[in-house]
Amino acid sequence: MSRFLAEPEISAWGERVGTTVVKAAVDSVLRDVRATVTRERQNVPPFDALLERVDARLAREEHEGLVAVLNGTGILLHTNLGRAPLAAAALDAVVTLDSGYSNLEFDLGAGARGSRYARVTSLLCATTGARDALVVNNCAAAILLILDTFAKGREVIVSRGELVEIGGGFRLPDVLARSGASLVEVGTTNKTYLRDFERALTQDTALLLRSHTSNYRIEGFTAEAPAAELARLGHRAGIATAEDLGSGALIDVTQFGLPHERTVLEAVADGIDLVAFSGDKLLGGPQAGIIVGAASAVARLRANPLLRALRVDKATLAALAATLRLYVRPGGWREIPFYRMLATPLDELRDRAQRLVQRVECAALNVRAVALQSYAGGGTLPQAGLASYGLSVRGPDHAAEHDAARLRAGRPRLVTRIADGAVLIDLRTIPPESDNDVADVLTALRR
Ligand SMILES: *Cc1c(COP(=O)(O)O)cnc(C)c1O
Repeated sequence: MSRFLAEPEISAWGERVGTTVVKAAVDSVLRDVRATVTRERQNVPPFDALLERVDARLAREEHEGLVAVLNGTGILLHTNLGRAPLAAAALDAVVTLDSGYSNLEFDLGAGARGSRYARVTSLLCATTGARDALVVNNCAAAILLILDTFAKGREVIVSRGELVEIGGGFRLPDVLARSGASLVEVGTTNKTYLRDFERALTQDTALLLRSHTSNYRIEGFTAEAPAAELARLGHRAGIATAEDLGSGALIDVTQFGLPHERTVLEAVADGIDLVAFSGDKLLGGPQAGIIVGAASAVARLRANPLLRALRVDKATLAALAATLRLYVRPGGWREIPFYRMLATPLDELRDRAQRLVQRVECAALNVRAVALQSYAGGGTLPQAGLASYGLSVRGPDHAAEHDAARLRAGRPRLVTRIADGAVLIDLRTIPPESDNDVADVLTALRR
């Protein structure tokens, strides 16, 4: 063990991952070797070979752990890469509140137990125009809570055109079935009218549900029941209305040249009783499921014992509150990384691409600055490409898959996409302060 630990490459690992982890790796390699040597009567491999095995094991373990990556895919809300990066203010709030104790469930005025949800309620009401709000783990949990509370053993009416499957196997009809509600489909794939909902009302109807068709579009000869009319129908019939909004924008994204995306404020203003959306999509905050809406409907959700199992951690609440405060401050949302990336001018991206080409171009590496398309991602605005700029890279052996794998193994790890036999690196999703890192990992590709 001491011989291993004295080796410079092993002590370097010690500084990165701690000696306990290094010792465990050495131990485990030695155990394997002892077992093989005894079982197969082999000679003990030379020390250098053992050293290599320890190094490989530590590298593999590090790879399997959660590590930071550079997102060169151009997909701003990449679910596989952790969706929305947090704003500095949100990170500061997490550090401050999580490194000590907080008034998470403590009412400082009364000196008695308080509600953790109260920490963000007023901010959610201020930013959405709703009367009350609740936060759970993610939007899927929010839908589950709504169905469990309102529709167990009863009927939920949904338009046929909105029976979505989002990523990770979340299919609206299946979630409905699991929550014990029965699905009543109305309309057709392309056209659903208010009268379709009206005709399907029965004694057993518990909920009129709208769902955002986040990741697909039905185009052409189409019709949908306007949300405001559906809400009025619900109010007339004494039946709650809910909307799975998915991405949950608080601001108008058309200012970035994107198509209109229904905002939370619009859904609330339409009179929908319960509007559910994600915290880490267009809101640009932590993973969370946010439900805003009418006070009486939210009160019913709050009384559901299931809420206890879906409750969010203090770090989530701290980050969410700090993110929402940015929306309250005029223009504060510009500090949210998602919107900063979205608003980056094309010229700036082109300049960065050209400077990078000058730095890393050489005979062994064919690098060009190219026009690309970024996407919002996260199941939002599926067809709306955003003009962007980046690099097209062809390595020495002209095997894009191979080059992409080497970039993913680089330090820092760079995730790219491949098109027409070249590795593409979109600079919109890479912060400018990481350009040195991009240059370094590309330089390493020459060898
Ligand atoms: C993304 C999305 C969800 C799921 O949100 P999570 O926060 O990932 O659980 C649900 N519904 C729609 C329409 C979505 O777009």
